[in-house]
Amino acid sequence: MQLYKNQPLRIHNSLTGKKELFKPINEGHVGMYVCGPTVYSNVHLGNCRTFMSFDMIFRYFKHLGYKVRYVRNITDAGHLENDADEGEDKIAKKAKLEQIEPMEVVQRYTVDFHNTLQQFNLLPPSIEPTATGHIIEQIEIIKEILEKGLAYEVNGSVYFDVVKFNEDHDYGKLSGRKLEDMITNTRELTAQDEKRNPQDFALWKKAEPQHIMRWPSPWGDGFPGWHLECTAMSTKYLGETFDIHGGGMDLKFPHHECEIAQAEASTGKSPVNYWMHANMLTLNGRKMSKSTDNNIYPSEIFSGDNNILSKPYTPAVVRFFMMQAHYTSILDLSDEALQASEKGYNRLMEALESVDGLKTGDSSDFDVLAWKQKCYDAMNDDFNTPILIAQLFEGVKHINLIKENKESISKEDKDILANTLKTFVYDVLGIENQSLAKDDSNTLSGVVQLLIDIRNEARANKDFATSDKIRDELLALGIQLKDGKEGTTFSIN
Ligand code: AMP
Ligand code: ZN
Repeated sequence: MQLYKNQPLRIHNSLTGKKELFKPINEGHVGMYVCGPTVYSNVHLGNCRTFMSFDMIFRYFKHLGYKVRYVRNITDAGHLENDADEGEDKIAKKAKLEQIEPMEVVQRYTVDFHNTLQQFNLLPPSIEPTATGHIIEQIEIIKEILEKGLAYEVNGSVYFDVVKFNEDHDYGKLSGRKLEDMITNTRELTAQDEKRNPQDFALWKKAEPQHIMRWPSPWGDGFPGWHLECTAMSTKYLGETFDIHGGGMDLKFPHHECEIAQAEASTGKSPVNYWMHANMLTLNGRKMSKSTDNNIYPSEIFSGDNNILSKPYTPAVVRFFMMQAHYTSILDLSDEALQASEKGYNRLMEALESVDGLKTGDSSDFDVLAWKQKCYDAMNDDFNTPILIAQLFEGVKHINLIKENKESISKEDKDILANTLKTFVYDVLGIENQSLAKDDSNTLSGVVQLLIDIRNEARANKDFATSDKIRDELLALGIQLKDGKEGTTFSIN
């Protein structure tokens, strides 16, 4: 395989707000951590967008020849209903509601998550660790932060001391917030509050007697704070400092800000070189979210069973729609936008199906190598998939001109054109050709229906030799005709 590692790749780093040249910590290797789902409900299309964006990034690094360790966790404990360390655990709440074990909730929605991502052709990550599988590691980090004097224990819970941490560090540097402003804008603590400052966050929460998800710790039975699992699992599998940390934009604060604080407090090192944030999928101009009804599920898109949709769309069309927007841009879902994507997708697939059979000549009217480099330039500019897709359509334009004998291409250039197009569409963007199978089955049904009509005419004319011949020969091909009251139907084995 050809290596493209030496191509200069620039990444928008949310920590600096700038596009920076990507330099891996270990030559030829990339360590990437992406926050996974909290598995208490089915994933909506917004969640899928974020995971698809990072799948495209994972695929491009692999294509460039890097050895990538991609860690994406499953949050199966510790995520409370609101970010202020209050309310019930989301999974425990669902378990109570459905009268099943929390781990049954986790299993059900982890399976849904995997099935959904597989339909969208996402590659599995290299490691998919769970929060409950890393309680020991999380307790160890809490001990280290306590030893550094940057956390305190109150009544079986342990909190991170943000104000103390901020004396020597910069809490808020990722989200661009200043601690002083946060302090001015928050309510006073009440007597019942255990925290020293409202900005402090839980590293460990004491489990009340009714709390079912609990583990023993040096501070008594309890459960870890949500932010801690990602620090424990990312540093365990990728090291104290690793290349890339990703997630949706909504996780920047407080989740990722707290991850930075925990890691810096425990190791003294900055945990991540490039922070990457994927932007939101919106519906009716508002963020899709699990906790409101403003969302749409993948199954609704595939069946067309939602009143905003005029028809069903295949996973490949939806993926193409997502890839037409840059991962850092907001993308609004609508039926019109999906219809437009479907048209574009079909044009792209037609070109892919015809490119190998193009007639070749002695020379090329199209500078294929310059075009190929432009495809790489688009991806090297912070994974700019809309620009890449525009370039791919530039390739499609030439394919069509060659088909119409208005341009010519050499054999060598045709092979480069075909390989580049297939590589970017199938391997990098992860877009499958699902139109082929569908078109084939539509064509087949049409042909069988035509034969049924001819057979009916033959029978009406008492030409039983022809009607039997059609029935028997179709059967020999594995197509069975069934005559019923409603007419003739068929099944294909
Ligand atoms: P959650 O399971 O809620 O923790 O979310 C899983 C991932 O989906 C996180 O990276 C979120 O940032 C991301 N996410 C949530 N809502 C949306 C949305 N509307 N558009 C894109 N990503 C989202
Ligand atoms: Zn996380």
